[in-house]
Amino acid sequence: MKFIETRGNDGHRPPEVSFSSAILGPMASFGGIYVPKTLPDLGLEFLQNHLQAGYKTLARDVLAAFEIDIDQVVIDEALELYDHFDDNSNPAPLVKVYDDLYVSELYHGPTRAFKDMALQPFGLLLSSLAQKRNENYLILAATSGDTGPAALETFKNRKNVQVACLYPDGGTSDVQRLQMVTEDAPNLKVIGIHGDFDDAQSALKLLLSSESFNAKLKEKHISLSAANSVNFGRIIFQLIYHIHSYLELVRQSAISMGEKIYLDVPSGNFGNALGGYYAMKMGLPVEKILIASNKNNVLTQLIKKGQYDLRGASVIPTTSPAMDILKSSNVERVLYDLYGAERTKELMQLLDNEKHYELTGQELEQLQDIFNADYCENSEGKEYIKQAFAKGYLMDPHTATCLKAYDTCRSKALKTVVYSTAEWTKFSPTIANALTGEQDAHDIDALVSIAREANIEIPGQISALFEKKISQKTVIDKEDIEQEILAFL
Ligand SMILES: *Cc1c(COP(=O)(O)O)cnc(C)c1O
Repeated sequence: MKFIETRGNDGHRPPEVSFSSAILGPMASFGGIYVPKTLPDLGLEFLQNHLQAGYKTLARDVLAAFEIDIDQVVIDEALELYDHFDDNSNPAPLVKVYDDLYVSELYHGPTRAFKDMALQPFGLLLSSLAQKRNENYLILAATSGDTGPAALETFKNRKNVQVACLYPDGGTSDVQRLQMVTEDAPNLKVIGIHGDFDDAQSALKLLLSSESFNAKLKEKHISLSAANSVNFGRIIFQLIYHIHSYLELVRQSAISMGEKIYLDVPSGNFGNALGGYYAMKMGLPVEKILIASNKNNVLTQLIKKGQYDLRGASVIPTTSPAMDILKSSNVERVLYDLYGAERTKELMQLLDNEKHYELTGQELEQLQDIFNADYCENSEGKEYIKQAFAKGYLMDPHTATCLKAYDTCRSKALKTVVYSTAEWTKFSPTIANALTGEQDAHDIDALVSIAREANIEIPGQISALFEKKISQKTVIDKEDIEQEILAFL
């Protein structure tokens, strides 16, 4: 399978590349990204044949359908990392919460958030490709909390890859910060920045375009890659669990094979939702994909009105911070798929230059055939957390945004899979506030009160964090980042 570019080809880059090239160098012509040239058609027969298959077998066969240029032993080794999730036979359990609402829990990996689902196997893949080519890669990440821990965890001690991870000091939860600053491996560097997430992200962008920095990397024979979901190496692992949750519904006799369902996805950079879109295009019986947002509701506006409008917009901090995003990178892959490269290039350039684009009526119809969307205020999310808890289900604030879309975006009484992207332990102050009314608790206190309220234990990985040695102590000004990273390399 070959990969092509969302904004067309500039005549300098190869017009199509292999999977491994697309993941090592994810940036394409004109600022575009890579997409598969065609999607395999799996159809009902594939689903029927995998009804009794475990997660790893399903994953292996979905990847095989993409005919990617990765050795089978490497793929198998990568998939074996799912054995370290809570249930070694099922990394993503599906739990019934209400009559036709099921939650697919994507947070049972080492860092307790859904980023592990893709980053765990992705890290091994990238490192083994780098070794095979005898090349060295630097992964630069700016994180508001969840990508950082998951990226550090997957690349820790892996060969031929180094990671420098920037986070806003004071801008993450205690648990998220501890997950990063207690990571101790010679190939990892964690840097706190005086400023907020936007400062960290713009510092990173500056660095990527710095000539002196790039020249120094070249001198050291280090190339840059990316571990965020612009990298198709992450997306490919994110379509598998959508197929898995469908099969789980059939196995639990909630639906019969072929029956349509809704997918309901808490969205930020749209990687999770894009995985669902590709699964649907590959034959998964999906009625519609519901896109849940928080108050940063650019995706709701796009899907409801056909307008992507960033004029005068700035990020609003919410209680679901992993979705506090205005430029949602993977929407570009949907634009490409629906409207083609030329139109995608045009729309993305409008967004870059004018901070705004508008779809035609016909384009909007195409989009609405597949997606519906709504956004959820903090206060509504809090109510949903309370309601679910009253029914015996503990839910994080990102997952709670999906309950709003579940209430407002469905026109048929079909079974709905809500994707749960974080364990309660990651955003405990918000959940404690919803359950007990306590305000501004520190994570450790919130964890204790939720555990008491729900009569459960704080998972060992989380409580241990508060005892672990802090090995990453760097906290600096933006201006000093380049120097700091070069010293680390
Ligand atoms: C990353 C993340 C999201 C958003 O997922 P996208 O694939 O970027 O849309 C939602 N919730 C949590 C907890 C996350 O970490």
